[in-house]
Formats: sequence, structure tokens, C-alpha cells
Amino acid sequence: MAKNIFSTDYTLGILGGGQLGKMMLYTTRKFDIRTKVLDPSVDAPAQFGASEFQVGSLQDYDTVMTFASDCDSICIEIEAVNVQALKDLRARGKKVYPNPDSLELIKDKTKQKQFYANHNIPTARFEMVSSKAEVQAACNHWHSPFVWKAATGGYDGFGVVVCRNEDDVQNIPDTPGMLEEFVDFDLEVSVIVARNESGDVKTFPIADQEFHPTANQVEYVLCPSVLSAEMQKKAEDIAINTAEAYDICGLLAVELFITKDGEILVNEVAPRPHNSGHHTIEACYTSQFEQYVRAVLDLPLGCTELKAAGVMANLVGSEGYRGDVVYQGYDELLGEPGVNIHIYGKPQTRPFRKMGHVTVIAKNRDEARKRAEWAKNSILVKSK
Ligand code: ADP
Repeated sequence: MAKNIFSTDYTLGILGGGQLGKMMLYTTRKFDIRTKVLDPSVDAPAQFGASEFQVGSLQDYDTVMTFASDCDSICIEIEAVNVQALKDLRARGKKVYPNPDSLELIKDKTKQKQFYANHNIPTARFEMVSSKAEVQAACNHWHSPFVWKAATGGYDGFGVVVCRNEDDVQNIPDTPGMLEEFVDFDLEVSVIVARNESGDVKTFPIADQEFHPTANQVEYVLCPSVLSAEMQKKAEDIAINTAEAYDICGLLAVELFITKDGEILVNEVAPRPHNSGHHTIEACYTSQFEQYVRAVLDLPLGCTELKAAGVMANLVGSEGYRGDVVYQGYDELLGEPGVNIHIYGKPQTRPFRKMGHVTVIAKNRDEARKRAEWAKNSILVKSK
């Protein structure tokens, strides 16, 4: 158990300074824990909340090693970091979470899938493909629809192609990836698991995800889930097993498909705070960001119970606008009970870029969902 980390020199290094890093800093400021943040962008949302902010590449071995040399613990808020540096920092006695070996497996979707197969974690049927020619050859035994996914570099649905016909197959980039069975799911949910070195494990209440009809991006996250208590328990058990198989300390966000036949399949995981847990800031006793900080520092984990129903809506850049951002229409929302606006502080908008979110808490989920849609549509994210 880490000791003496409040109001001391004990330093938590965070690789990545995006909105997830920024929201982690609400906790480190609350507890007065010293932080250092590294991000390639001078405009990183987490630049102001950190005790120290450095601009530099997260992928460059020497930059990461130098940055972390005076940190006691190191964690990530984005997977795209130099894993070798994390392994070497660990070998030098630094606390590094999530563990770099698992991070390496998770960064590559094909390795993730192989991991599930090896550990009997339920997931959709798949086949590795190293090139477009291999995809074309595989069309003999894969009947449409099926899904192609890039091994690396995918984000928010980029790098995922649902193949329904020849044209879709033609549009697949010539990079390594995998083919996956098309899952006719009823619902996509997420379970965020927290684990610390002392063996404490806690899950956040399951959240349902609603996708934007065209952007292949989560639009709403809704909690509590509509799943039955029995299904929730099964999903939680799968998520905990997955976090234990990876030996994650920190957070593991486990995205699951609930099929029409009631099967639960792991889609993918993220070893860090996740977009599907933003509502926990207002809706739960402990937020996912606070839990992550507690877990990586081996502090006791907080209570994850819901205080109220919560629905989060992403605030993304409007289509047709690019450049210096301006927000409009938020005035009337500020007086509304249960409406919580978060603006990440990214100076530039572009279509569908995640610029902020709004969480509405209410007595029940339907009410929160209705008000979240109204709030989301009231705030306009445009450019000057
Ligand atoms: P990303 O890493 O970009 O979030 P995902 O693997 O989560 O990529 O895929 C993005 C979305 O595409 C999923 O949330 C889901 O809606 C859809 N999708 C992904 N895999 C499948 C599949 N095998 N069958 C059906 N839909 C899928």
C-alpha cells in the first residue's frame, strides 16, 4: 500500500493529457497528489491541472524514460505510448500500471482476440488477416456480413469496416487486421472494473451505450442498464475474469455485446478510464477517474454505487465546422437541476471530435435520457 502520497513529493506521472487525463486531475487536486503529465500537444486539456506539464512524444522511448525518471508511479490515459519504455521503467523499480505486457496485448486488436481465445473469454469468432489479399481470399469462407478490423490505429469506429458486399471489401486498407463474425446484438454495454495491487476489486454499475446513427461513435451512455439482474451479474463476472486474466491494476473498461440469444461477448477492452464511465463523476459515489487514481496508487477503492440514474451525452464538433471553437446555447442549461456540462478545453473543433460531454442525473433513467437529449441539442459546438 502506497504511503504518504497526499501533500508530499510522491509523484504520479500520467502519459497523455487529453480529457481523460484532465478529469483524473480533479482527483489528484482534491487529494493534493503531485502529478506530471506528458502530451505531444501544447494545447492538451490536462496542461493546467497538473503540477507539471511537459510537451513531448508518448511514442518516443527516450522522451518517456526522461519524463518518468523522477516519477514514483506511472500510468496512462491513452494506449498509444512506448511500451518498451514502460517495461524498462518497471524493471528499474517504478510502479507502472496498467502492466506493460497486458497493455501491449490490448493495443493490438488481433492480440486481444487471441488472448480471449486462449483464456476462454467469450468473444465473436475471428480470423487473423495480414493483408488485403488475405481478406479477399478469405471471402471464400466468410459470408457477408462480416467485420474487418485493423490490428492497430483504430479509434471510435475508424479502422472498423462492416463488409456487406464486394465494394466494402475493396475499401479495406491493406494493413494487418482480422475478420470477425458480424454480431447481431441487442445491446452494447460496458463494465468498468477497478483492481489494485492489494487485491481489492470493484465494478461500476453496468452502463448501456447508444450509438450515433451514422458516426459509429457512442452518443449516449445510460445507467442503470436495462439488463436483468441475472444478466448484469453474468456480464460483471466476465468483466472481472477478463481484468484478472490480464492482471490489470488500475481500470479495465470491458465493452460487451449482448446478443439476441442472450449471449454475452467481449468486444474490446481499454485499460484506463473510458468514455462509457463519464457519468460516474456525478452519478456514483466514486468516479471512474478517482477510482483509477486510487487503484494505480494502491489506495483502498471507493464505493461505486449509483446515487441517481445518469445519462451522458458526448458533445462533439458539429458537421460543417472546423477551427477555433465557440460554444453556444449553454446559458439556459446552467440553471437546470441535474445537468452537468463538461468542456474539455480543446481549442480546435472538427466534425465529431469529442469536445465535451453533458451528464444529466435524475430520479430515473428515462427522465435523464430525455433531458440529456434536450441538453445535448441545446449546446452547439461550432467554429468562429
Ligand atoms: P473502436 O475501437 O473503434 O471503438 P470497436 O471494435 O468497438 O472499435 O467497433 C466499433 C463499433 O462497431 C462497435 O461499438 C459496434 O457498434 C460495431 N461493431 C464492432 N464489431 C462488431 C461485430 N463483430 N459485429 C457487429 N458490430 C460490430
